[in-house]
Amino acid sequence: MTRTVRELLTTERPTWSFEFFPPKTPAGEEQLWTALRELERLHPSFVSVTYGAGGSTREGTVAMTERIAAETTMTPLAHLTAVDHSVAELRHVVSRLAAAGVRNLLALRGDPPGADPQAEWVPHPQGLRYASELVELIRSIGDFSVGVAAFPERHPRSPDFDTDVEMFVAKCRAGADFAITQMFFRPEDYLRLRDRVAARGCEVPVIAGVMPVTNVRQITRIVQLSGQAFPEDLAERFAVLDGDRPEDKAAVHALGVEVATDLCRRLLDEGVPGIHFITMNRSTATREVFANLSSTGAPATAG
Ligand code: FAD
Repeated sequence: MTRTVRELLTTERPTWSFEFFPPKTPAGEEQLWTALRELERLHPSFVSVTYGAGGSTREGTVAMTERIAAETTMTPLAHLTAVDHSVAELRHVVSRLAAAGVRNLLALRGDPPGADPQAEWVPHPQGLRYASELVELIRSIGDFSVGVAAFPERHPRSPDFDTDVEMFVAKCRAGADFAITQMFFRPEDYLRLRDRVAARGCEVPVIAGVMPVTNVRQITRIVQLSGQAFPEDLAERFAVLDGDRPEDKAAVHALGVEVATDLCRRLLDEGVPGIHFITMNRSTATREVFANLSSTGAPATAG
């Protein structure tokens, strides 16, 4: 029986977890499994698999989560979104995951399919409108540990931070056991969210989402996809190192690892319940941050 994130958050705080996405090509598949096997040696508390916007990548999420449950020692967390799904389809996906022994789900509304994540969000006619409804649906299907998304800089569609916190707390009260944040780069943003949520009497643990930046192009992509700002001072530190030479790339990578390590150290000092690394299906940067942190609370590695 695999463990639930709910249990892990009481027995192994801080939790350490890694996020992957379903690859689209055989080469991507190979890269993913190399990264998964390398990161397995760090004994993560759990690993998560994102849910695609449609079609084959969705099937890929379910198949990849099933394989992690069957063939590795790691505890899987499957992301699931309400985009373009009827309630009957959502029930079907949840049942399939349950049959594979998956007990952890991250309930998300999802972004509109297509290139623009800020486009109008149109619910499926027989579907759901908000993540809180998906939390309730999953809870009604079985005994899952359910997580939700949190946004240290507020969700881009929320009119202001306070409204966002209010909606977040309501989503937690719908039955969430834990939350994972969007990636962020300023610890103050996370701490502000944590404190506002606690001030509203909500005790759901908020796991911090951290992504080590390993190339400068990623920064534009992060802003596009997350709708969050990237701190200007940090963007400048990366920009001055940018270049085509191998030593430029190595310098950017090293800075990304340093920045992520400093962020994690501050969060650990603040008693963060868990750190969730967005790996982009590669293991090197995450392993380097992990090694830097091993003196400050990261679990010992076997590898
Ligand atoms: P919701 O909680 O439904 O919120 C959406 C907006 O509606 C917010 O502005 C909220 O304040 C508002 N709102 C909520 N409830 C109400 C209400 N009752 N009345 C009025 N307004 C309300 N996307 C994917 O497609 N696949 C993934 O695998 C994926 N993984 C993610 C993992 C993490 C950790 C995070 C942080 C995000 C992830 N996303 C993923 C992106 C996410 O789906 C988008 O950010 C999406 O726009 C918001 O999803 P949500 O679950 O927070 O939505």
